[in-house]
Amino acid sequence: MSYLITYHDGGPNPPVHARLNWQAHEWIIDTENGRQYRMPVSAITHFAPKDGGIELKTSRFPYQTIFTSDPDFIHRFTSDWKSGSHKFMEVRTRHILGWLSLLLLVIAAVCIWFYFKGLPMLSEQMVGLVSKEHEQKLGEMLFKDIQSKEKLDSIGSARLEEFGHQLGFKEIKFHLAESDVVNAYAIPGHVVVYTGLLDKMKDPAPLAALLGHEVGHIRLRHSLKSIMRQFSGAIVLSLAFGDASAIWLGEELQKLSYSRKMETEADEFGLKFLHQHQLPLTGMDSLFSILSAESGDVEPPAFLSTHPLSKERQAAAREWLFDHPQSTTKPLPASAFVALKERTAALKQ
Ligand SMILES: [Zn+2]
Repeated sequence: MSYLITYHDGGPNPPVHARLNWQAHEWIIDTENGRQYRMPVSAITHFAPKDGGIELKTSRFPYQTIFTSDPDFIHRFTSDWKSGSHKFMEVRTRHILGWLSLLLLVIAAVCIWFYFKGLPMLSEQMVGLVSKEHEQKLGEMLFKDIQSKEKLDSIGSARLEEFGHQLGFKEIKFHLAESDVVNAYAIPGHVVVYTGLLDKMKDPAPLAALLGHEVGHIRLRHSLKSIMRQFSGAIVLSLAFGDASAIWLGEELQKLSYSRKMETEADEFGLKFLHQHQLPLTGMDSLFSILSAESGDVEPPAFLSTHPLSKERQAAAREWLFDHPQSTTKPLPASAFVALKERTAALKQ
């Protein structure tokens, strides 16, 4: 059975008159200028009434269009489409399945985004809801863990605390830990410095910069933010699977890491603090030099793995120094530093 139609092949040529030969799976179209086209029935996804006839379109390349006002064709096509007895049924199902899988894909993408980005962002926002008291309790809990794992020296810690308090960080507890690792870190209320890092310091300036940076992490609530960020996923997963054991943080707390943004914020905090208190800012640069020299080895020191150090960070600090010149500076707590160095030397023997 064949029908008179107007056919457009989707290309730049205008539509032409043609004859459509109806077959079950594929229509053969012979145009008035002697060309033959094939239109798979399954490719037809759109049809609409137009100018007293009907227009059909395919949704895949080549984008063919058929127009006809032949009442026999219209009747046959529309009844086949409605009854679903024809291949059109398959087309519609495939169409729906296509949309459905796209929808599922979008939902999956949103879930993945939420898990990896949205959730940490949300939990960071929620940091504001955590009270200072709870944060302090968290700090004490973490410190108990540190006490059992680190080799803390009470005499050295007292001298480091003296240094820190003279800088103005009165509410913070400072601890000296015996270790060759060039490292330092902060948890709520506490700063831990390794003897390995102190050994590299020849004067009090880099120590002041280091403490400024670490106290910055505390004041800006970075530990809390990181904990919320890193464990939000575990909490959600454990809720989803009804398994509370996933919430147990345990060893994971040792791997607590700060984002590059947090490191920059802590650097800025340190610099601003020293500047406001008219303390020399030069220590930040020598601190970076100490750390850079350490990272020259194949294995980066722990401080670097938890404190991603980059040339940009050092450059940013230098720029800050350039923008904030100091006319006069107060002396750093030199005697506390000397006493601390004496202690680290004694510990080595
Ligand atoms: Zn840091």
